[in-house]
Amino acid sequence: MSELTDLYQEVILDHNRQPRNFHKMEGANHHAEGFNPLCGDRCTVYLKLDDDVIGDISFEGSGCAISKASSSIMTTAVKGKRVADVDKLFATFHDLVTGKSDASKVSNEDLGKLQVFSGVSEFPARVKCASLAWHTLKAALEDKADAISTENEGEKT
Ligand code: ZN
Repeated sequence: MSELTDLYQEVILDHNRQPRNFHKMEGANHHAEGFNPLCGDRCTVYLKLDDDVIGDISFEGSGCAISKASSSIMTTAVKGKRVADVDKLFATFHDLVTGKSDASKVSNEDLGKLQVFSGVSEFPARVKCASLAWHTLKAALEDKADAISTENEGEKT
């Protein structure tokens, strides 16, 4: 199990050092800003939505390794997917990081690299770091103009 944890840590560190899709997008048709006041993480998500498919996605932001890696992995996980499938993926991911579902019961296929965040459920303060990018993505899809804050998470879920 510890080997697995090492592997997960390596993936997170790699995405933190070299975040994917990390740039401002020109011509994005949706975007939103997110903020996690508990940790100071900031994340802006840019989207090019083609009908109900995420044609392109990028992000900018600053924060801890978990928030940055989660944003990076989120962008690679949802690119090219339908919005309905992204909603399902977010629900599965959220259950995983909040400890509502056991990582061993979630198939690799469903989560792919997102599984590296399964250990986050043991650190409640980190859950918001890991889920910030996803809440921001959701806000971007819903075209929320105001910056979202993870402080409101409890009311929404
Ligand atoms: Zn953080």
